[in-house]
Amino acid sequence: MAETDKSAHPLHEEQWTAIRTHLQEELGDAAFRSWLKPLSLRRIENGEAQIAAPTRFLRDWVSARYAARIAELWNQMNPDVRSVAIDVIVIGGVAAPVSTSQQSALPTSNASNVPGEMPARGPYLRLRAVEEDIDDLSSPLNPRFSFNEFVVGKPNEFAHAAARRVADADNSVPFNPLYLYGGVGLGKTHLMHAIASHIRQRDPTRRVLYLSAEKFMYHFVRALRYKDTMAFKEQFRSADVLMIDDVQFICGKDSTQEEFFHTFNVLIDHNRQVVISGDRSPSDLDEMEERLRSRLGWGLVADIHATTYELRLGILHAKIESSGVTDVPQDVLEFLARRISSNIRELEMALNRVTAHATLVGRQIDLDMAQEVLRDVLRASERRITIEEIQRRVAEHYNIKLSEMSSERRARAVARPRQVAMFLSKQLTSRSLPEIGRKFGGRDHTTVMHAVRRIEELRQSDAAIAEDVDLLKRTLES
Ligand code: ADP
Ligand code: MG
Repeated sequence: MAETDKSAHPLHEEQWTAIRTHLQEELGDAAFRSWLKPLSLRRIENGEAQIAAPTRFLRDWVSARYAARIAELWNQMNPDVRSVAIDVIVIGGVAAPVSTSQQSALPTSNASNVPGEMPARGPYLRLRAVEEDIDDLSSPLNPRFSFNEFVVGKPNEFAHAAARRVADADNSVPFNPLYLYGGVGLGKTHLMHAIASHIRQRDPTRRVLYLSAEKFMYHFVRALRYKDTMAFKEQFRSADVLMIDDVQFICGKDSTQEEFFHTFNVLIDHNRQVVISGDRSPSDLDEMEERLRSRLGWGLVADIHATTYELRLGILHAKIESSGVTDVPQDVLEFLARRISSNIRELEMALNRVTAHATLVGRQIDLDMAQEVLRDVLRASERRITIEEIQRRVAEHYNIKLSEMSSERRARAVARPRQVAMFLSKQLTSRSLPEIGRKFGGRDHTTVMHAVRRIEELRQSDAAIAEDVDLLKRTLES
């Protein structure tokens, strides 16, 4: 499969163009230019799209990160295409034997590997010409991610205070490193950008280098390829403040970890501020070397907790204020804060969708409209709470056995919690009464209906029940 002269079928070329356009939107211009633009389609054969990459590094990177997505998109557009293979093919360059074929396939395909080697020459020269300077090395900062626009609440007040301390310190280093961690969409990147912007504004001579761990790896691997690690080290080690976002992506890449560890140590030894973010605590970075893991925890470790209703509502208020949208009624904001509890990114997206819709159709925002516009989002977030989870939480809360949820026993001590669980299943999932009944030991739907009514009544008359139900609901929804 070495020949490169055959060009792809025009229809396939068209599909390839559509996929690239789609990915450009999905990944942004910078990633697209670095990774996908240099690729070309060779042909589609036996359900496999064969794509040429100019370098081995590019092939490896694209295979690991984007090939599965390319295969998925292609398969959606043309079900005959079930897998994608990326090979190193030098077009019009140094003649090279065909390389290792790295495959990324949808589960149905049975792709094979073709072994081979590719000399590290020729094509790298082109990339070499676009080598960046340290200031270009740093990723652009989002001006919206400032301290001013960061709403502080219980879940993030500690991380926020630590970030402020680092940002306000003039040339001193309050704690090193600062390690920020938390789940997706909770504000880690926002705080990182806020620190970087703040330091740059206060003192433009300080060299703040902010980049994702992925980008760090990319630069390092590229330096290795050019045998140019000295320049790489110098660039990184000349930073006054080094900030690496999403460090979990450095996991499991030995040489990168090693280099990261050295860079990190040199900077800390020279009293330069290092700020790292990750999606989990240093000790939970399983694939990371022990010494690096423990070193990451030497400074200050601050975690951002899951959002609370109050924080979500506060953020919504802040967002509508800063965007100048005034006509979002309070009950709609409360509805969003209550129902979109997964993370702040999704909350923002929900608000944007509602306001965009209102502008487009020229309609006032109200609760009905918000529910209508967000139907799919809400259904997706509902799906996350399962009846099993409700049963488990309720059983824990009342300290009864999980099996009592489906048992025949009618003693109040188990029957009441069971009714609470049925009530919550009706409220928090989209399951029908018969479905709920089945999950509770095959009970009839009228039993479920009765339970739901009973708990509704009790919530009015019995403060203890009302409190239990509210607490359970809150923990299940958060
Ligand atoms: P992470 O990096 O933790 O995945 P981000 O920092 O990208 O999350 O945050 C996701 C979105 O939520 C961003 O648009 C960010 O501005 C917003 N956001 C997160 N936390 C806050 C907050 N406390 N106040 C205002 N906006 C926030
Ligand atoms: Mg982030």
